[in-house]
Amino acid sequence: MESSDSLRYSKLVTFVIRNKCAACYRQFNRMEHLVEHMRTSYHSVHEPACGVCGKHSRSFESMREHLIGPLPKAECERIFKDRGCDICLGIFGSRNALRNHRESCQLSRGNGLFPRMANLGISNDMRIENNRSKVVALACKMVGGGSDGSLDLCARVCLTDECENIIFQAYVKPLLPVTNYRYETTGIRPEFLRDAMPVRQVSRKIQDFLCNGEPIWKIRSKGGRARILVGHGLDHDLKCLDMEYPAIIIRDTAEYPPLMKTSKLSNSLKYLTKAYLGYDIQNGIQDPYEDCVATMRLYMRMRSQNHEVEDYPLATDPQNRNNFAQWRQGELERMSPEEMLEISRSDYYCWCLDSRG
Ligand SMILES: [Zn+2]
Ligand SMILES: [Zn+2]
Ligand SMILES: [Zn+2]
Ligand SMILES: [Zn+2]
Repeated sequence: MESSDSLRYSKLVTFVIRNKCAACYRQFNRMEHLVEHMRTSYHSVHEPACGVCGKHSRSFESMREHLIGPLPKAECERIFKDRGCDICLGIFGSRNALRNHRESCQLSRGNGLFPRMANLGISNDMRIENNRSKVVALACKMVGGGSDGSLDLCARVCLTDECENIIFQAYVKPLLPVTNYRYETTGIRPEFLRDAMPVRQVSRKIQDFLCNGEPIWKIRSKGGRARILVGHGLDHDLKCLDMEYPAIIIRDTAEYPPLMKTSKLSNSLKYLTKAYLGYDIQNGIQDPYEDCVATMRLYMRMRSQNHEVEDYPLATDPQNRNNFAQWRQGELERMSPEEMLEISRSDYYCWCLDSRG
């Protein structure tokens, strides 16, 4: 290689490295394109990151693709195959460490599930008053209304605490006539609903419990008395219960970006439970208690992620003025990719922040 060629070559290398995103490793021909990418990608320490190469992904599912395929990164795949956990996607120091870890990572349906079902026969159980749990999971089962039975009507509801105890469960009497009991999945028969608690009463009871003495219009953040509500597809559940609750203290496993598909659509709770907890749910007749337990477990896993502590973690925090908005293009183009990542903030609320009080 002639010296001028090698000079050109080394210039080319610097050029490529300089324009590589420090989070997702995408490369850009021009620095201004990298800056544009950083302005819109909201990379942060809260994104799932590969335990081998450190690459950030928007979701665990895209990290799974990076590690397992269909088109994995060869080096990462090799190490992951050797000592990576296929449930949490963590990489461990040795195969032995992986074996020890996996025993606690892989959960089973039976884990404490059946002992606590002892009070299942009691409907309208009202031990709701003196529970101190700050975080509560909610799940409903729907029967069909309307002429073709396709309208979802809440007929059964369950509320659990962080320790998988049932706080409240009840059959619910819908406002409209039931035209399809969907028995194969709900297990609900007409006589179960005959004397059940009317839906309005159930909603009020649950809402009072969640607000925990705080007026609903006053709920601004997780810092107050109101309880954090965990669930899957809660928009639909709350709509069927005709109940409101502020989004700011809702943790929905169907809407949390790290648990969503790469296409930004929701995964089913059945899929998430299989993929991220390692067991099967919703086979045959479905119990809302089982859904509560699964969503709460997913929430706890996400909450316990060990992310770096940063000031003003959200792009929407006034101090960040919506990620880079206060920075001039020229200033950003002079920064290194690492420096840009350093000041970039997430566009969603990471649940690890709930563990920081
Ligand atoms: Zn990137
Ligand atoms: Zn986080
Ligand atoms: Zn990697
Ligand atoms: Zn694991």
